Amino acid sequence: MKLLDFFRHQLRTACLLLGGMSSMFAVSEAGVTPPPSVVVLKLDDMVVREGRVPERWMRIAEFAETRKLKVSIGIICNSLEGEHPAYLAELKRQAGTGWIEFWHHGYDHRRWTEGEVTYREFSKTSREHQLEHLTRGQALAREKLGITFTTFGAPFNATDATTAELLASAMPEIRVWLYSDGRNPAGKFVARRVRANLEEPVHKPNFGAFVRAYEAERAKAPRYLVLQGHPLSWDDAAFAEFVRVVDFLAAEGCAFVHPAELPALVQ
Ligand SMILES: [Zn+2]
Repeated sequence: MKLLDFFRHQLRTACLLLGGMSSMFAVSEAGVTPPPSVVVLKLDDMVVREGRVPERWMRIAEFAETRKLKVSIGIICNSLEGEHPAYLAELKRQAGTGWIEFWHHGYDHRRWTEGEVTYREFSKTSREHQLEHLTRGQALAREKLGITFTTFGAPFNATDATTAELLASAMPEIRVWLYSDGRNPAGKFVARRVRANLEEPVHKPNFGAFVRAYEAERAKAPRYLVLQGHPLSWDDAAFAEFVRVVDFLAAEGCAFVHPAELPALVQ
């Protein structure tokens, strides 16, 4: 090979290498960003019905197990009280599959109004009230399911400064805080909320709305998405719409993970 040809060859190789490398980074020449690699499905409001896991929740478990798909489910913890052997046994079984992470979704999920003030379980309520509800929920998970919650997501995603103080001081085992407003992360991994979500409006999975918001979100190159849903509200058509979103994200190459995995994967 002549010397000039050799240099030409080297130059071409370098250009090819550089071209290949640029596609590995966030923004290509066309301005297209890669999909977020990690998705958390944040499914809210597990409760007991007639002593059992409700049918619509059973469909989620079957879907997760059949598809080998990780999902996370927020338990309203007072459902763990009392004698519900079938409910508790099924939740234990689901936890044991490895596909489902259960998380602390409050003790009673209450919202009420006194005079002009609207209270929620973890918003505007007293320190004693919130501490009792956090610790009781965790104790029930340990006693009835043999698990320790490491993720917390408040009912209505409503919290205040008291919640942050208590998560920091009294709940060291909680490592991930779903949809915190971020004002005080309390030493936790804050899994933030973006516009792209499963339901639009809330309780209605909406594939078209998801894709539109997802395309806008994707331009910001998010490292992860946490998508919220309420499967107890989903009839067959709504469930099918949820599956469309999952199929779409799977085709995008996203991995579905548990909230507990987020800190190590994202930070
Ligand atoms: Zn809820």
